[in-house]
Amino acid sequence: MSAAVWKRRALRAEGAVYHALWMRPLGPHWAGDGIETAEQMRARFHEHMERTYPDLIVRDRHRRIEVFHVADGCGCDPEAEDFEEQHSESGEDGEYLCSKRFLGYVCGSCEDEDGEGPAWKPYAVLWPCPPIVALDEPVKGVQA
Ligand SMILES: [Zn+2]
Ligand SMILES: [Zn+2]
Repeated sequence: MSAAVWKRRALRAEGAVYHALWMRPLGPHWAGDGIETAEQMRARFHEHMERTYPDLIVRDRHRRIEVFHVADGCGCDPEAEDFEEQHSESGEDGEYLCSKRFLGYVCGSCEDEDGEGPAWKPYAVLWPCPPIVALDEPVKGVQA
């Protein structure tokens, strides 16, 4: 990926944050009654984001998640000095994980209903998942 693309992306992300920081509840002049509630403000912000930064929304929704082998049966020597250190992090199900056996990245949002995902997590989708791949594909005719 070219530096220009990264830069553009960073600037867009900055713009989104800037907008969030400067958003204030709408006063009595807006269409609703009274001061805008936090809920309404959130909805308005979300709408703005979807309209202006649809790619950021997709990226945020489709974050990559690291997947490690569970410590149970990972093949490490439980007597090894660093065993505890390497197996202290627990996963979604509270099982300990083996930090030595990184399996890969899956999408935090996509699911493979048919269980045709990676062998170590059949109901997950490898990251980058299709929506992210689509975003990263250069758009025809647009100079990156
Ligand atoms: Zn291990
Ligand atoms: Zn995804």
